[in-house]
Amino acid sequence: MSSIFTKIIQREIPAYIVYEDEKFIAFLDIIQATPGHTLVATKQEFSGLKELPIELSGDFFKVVKRVAEAVKDTFNPTGVNLICNDGQGAGQTVYHFHFHIVPRYENDGLTFKLKNHMHETRSEDYASRAEKLRKALQK
Ligand code: 5GP
Repeated sequence: MSSIFTKIIQREIPAYIVYEDEKFIAFLDIIQATPGHTLVATKQEFSGLKELPIELSGDFFKVVKRVAEAVKDTFNPTGVNLICNDGQGAGQTVYHFHFHIVPRYENDGLTFKLKNHMHETRSEDYASRAEKLRKALQK
């Protein structure tokens, strides 16, 4: 079954599309977490980051950057969060690869705050985590 975003791409359901090219599309998120909240998605359905072909990822990010800058210029937010919820544990609900562009405003009520565990992280924890990652990145 095609995803809700594919239905938007194929004009089966309406959306406020703001950008489109051969490979990507950007449209307003229906929930408008803040005014101007926009999604950038691939036209082809990839369920997540792992499935996104590496050859597409550079061009995808170019579109994210372009749309994010337009959002900034248009709505004058105090900042912009670029969010990719990849996987159920990260809050992904639509399994069709996309990024959220969420403009931020004073007192916008959004709370996404990274917790600081610096003080309980030992130097050997940093070292072993970094080593595991380096190994993974060599593959
Ligand atoms: P996720 O939870 O996968 O990171 O993000 C999916 C997003 O798609 C949600 O923020 C949700 O509001 C948005 N969304 C779901 N259905 C529709 C729809 O029919 N139209 C639009 N414009 N956005 C949708």
